[in-house]
Amino acid sequence: MQLMQPSGVRAELAAGTAELTAAGIASARAEAELLLAHVLGCSRTRLLLGDHVGPAEAGRFHQLLNRRATGVPLQHLTGTAPFRHLELAVGPGVFIPRPETELLVELAAPWLVAGATVVDLGAGSGAIALSVAQEFPVARVIAVERSERALQWLRRNAGNRQAAGDSAVEVVPGDLTDPALLTGLSGGVAAVLANPPYVPESIRAGLPAELAHDPDEALFAGPDGLALMPAVAELAARLLRPGGFLGIEHDETQAQAVSRLLSGAGCWVSVAGRPDLTGRPRFSTAVRA
Ligand code: GLN
Repeated sequence: MQLMQPSGVRAELAAGTAELTAAGIASARAEAELLLAHVLGCSRTRLLLGDHVGPAEAGRFHQLLNRRATGVPLQHLTGTAPFRHLELAVGPGVFIPRPETELLVELAAPWLVAGATVVDLGAGSGAIALSVAQEFPVARVIAVERSERALQWLRRNAGNRQAAGDSAVEVVPGDLTDPALLTGLSGGVAAVLANPPYVPESIRAGLPAELAHDPDEALFAGPDGLALMPAVAELAARLLRPGGFLGIEHDETQAQAVSRLLSGAGCWVSVAGRPDLTGRPRFSTAVRA
């Protein structure tokens, strides 16, 4: 027997896909499904089994499609972004977590053992920190964030996850260039993870429209995007215990520069560039000597 979609859902998805395709959106069908599922309050797979779409729901769906077509990110329309096993609340004022960052958590896994303290620098919505807390509940997790607006999202996500039974994440408002940041932890941290801003200012004009919805301060770091890397490396060197792990995300063009920075500092061993799932060198890792 063939599984039939109710005509309302099928027609709405066809119209939605056409609208998003016309707006130049690459995964138009998938995004239309996610938006309609959001409006109907069901999962994407449940769409197939759903009822017809009422006029109010159709109206709401088309409103969201119009906003998506003008470049509002899908995640701001649904209010959530998936990251590893989490659904994080996101919206204006916080960086939308990207799937490639998920790998950073895995790279750190051997260090995330009982008694380990882990610091996420520039935590944004909390994607890395909250994933560590969920998947490695024996670790103590600290999330550092500077932006007041991002901190609101971070606290909300941390509260949601704790209420759902995950181990707590300590949220620390702070700037990673501040020499007094987390001084009580100096020399005692097992792993420092960071997805700092690294987009070069010089490529701003050529970036996709969606990026305008991420906070500038989460994206850009000087003309070459590397402005914050020395501060990340210095802070990590101060925080980590000997044998502790540093994992940094960066652009694929920055792997050499970051590895040179770490190798030149004299306090790191096992400096390595790590590929993402498509083989691009998107992470650098090092161990505190
Ligand atoms: N990966 C992001 C992007 O290209 C940038 C993330 C960052 O600067 N930390 O949109």
